[in-house]
Amino acid sequence: MSTTDPIPPHGGKLVDLLLPEPAAERITQESEHLPKVAVGKRELSDLEMLAVGALSPLTGFMGEKDYRSVIEEMHLASGLPWTIPVTLSLDESEAKRIGGAARVALITGGQPVAVLDVDSVYRRDGEAEARSVFGTTDLAHPGVKALHAAGTFLVAGSVHVIRLPRHTTFQRFRLTPAETRAAFAERGWNRVVGFQTRNPVHRAHEYLQKCALEIVDGLLLHPLVGETKEDDVPAEVRMQCYEVLLANYYPADRVMMSVFPAAMRYAGPKEAIWHAIARKNYGCTHFIVGRDHAGVGSYYGTYDAQKIFDEFDAEELGITPLFFEHSFFCKKCDQMASPKTCPHADEDRVILSGTKVREMLRAGKKPPKEFSRPEVAQILIEAMAERTR
Ligand SMILES: [Zn+2]
Repeated sequence: MSTTDPIPPHGGKLVDLLLPEPAAERITQESEHLPKVAVGKRELSDLEMLAVGALSPLTGFMGEKDYRSVIEEMHLASGLPWTIPVTLSLDESEAKRIGGAARVALITGGQPVAVLDVDSVYRRDGEAEARSVFGTTDLAHPGVKALHAAGTFLVAGSVHVIRLPRHTTFQRFRLTPAETRAAFAERGWNRVVGFQTRNPVHRAHEYLQKCALEIVDGLLLHPLVGETKEDDVPAEVRMQCYEVLLANYYPADRVMMSVFPAAMRYAGPKEAIWHAIARKNYGCTHFIVGRDHAGVGSYYGTYDAQKIFDEFDAEELGITPLFFEHSFFCKKCDQMASPKTCPHADEDRVILSGTKVREMLRAGKKPPKEFSRPEVAQILIEAMAERTR
């Protein structure tokens, strides 16, 4: 990274854990003789993020000191802001099996993806972690449920990554932080706003993105494509929606799309901070935080994910959050607006609940064009029809 970078990575240096050849080949051979730990989908997402530096300054799965510090203080032991533990879990038999091994192989689909230099194995404090990260221990919460299903031991240490997970989808959108940073520099963008999403983008979010874009140089549409809960719209369908939206309604020289390999935690405010820090690593200087960012059900207050930014110094975070209220098309204003900019009553506003929209799409009916771009609605209608078949 040059010193002229508009925004340095978290901790100052972009981490790169991918082994170059021939080291990768040598470690692959070595891994055959190491104790093996199978990594699940979520942990594989974290491993990919670690590998490419999206989780800089982390160089592996967290030890107990960082784990405790993150849960209790929202900072790493080094003092850097961090709100979500990044851990690799083991069940009791796995913990026994690796015993005192100094190095283990991380396996997916029978193949080694990385080795981990074991620093320690410790017991997870599931209750404290759930309370801190999710604000609840309710098993109905998808994040708590996933935590509960994971092993009770955590293995910590630096990782050396043999290869990135092999993806068959969205290949041209899989940019690493080094690649997005280079792309921004090539475009001459000094100020870039990142937008996290796990939903199709309707007019309301298009409006937030464009409001933000008015004050910066470029927009990074950065949809999350790691694991989400089952009733979220699948990533393949969302990606089609984003592509048709960008092609028809966004200037190509001001917008880039790339995918964010993370799994969704549904940790609301804690995840908003974590999402912002990761986007800083991708080179974003600004980050959009809407209402109920990364929320689920009614576990978090509407603006909790914005308020939590007050608990950090602007300097220690580095990336600037941009807060937005919910927006809508107002027939009296005759434009997109929010309660901040429109004085009219609800009946003048085109507001539809998520349930209502799903109902319409399922019936093959397009929501009003003030709510959703027709091209996006068409893709969602077809996807729903396909799913019912
Ligand atoms: Zn109005």
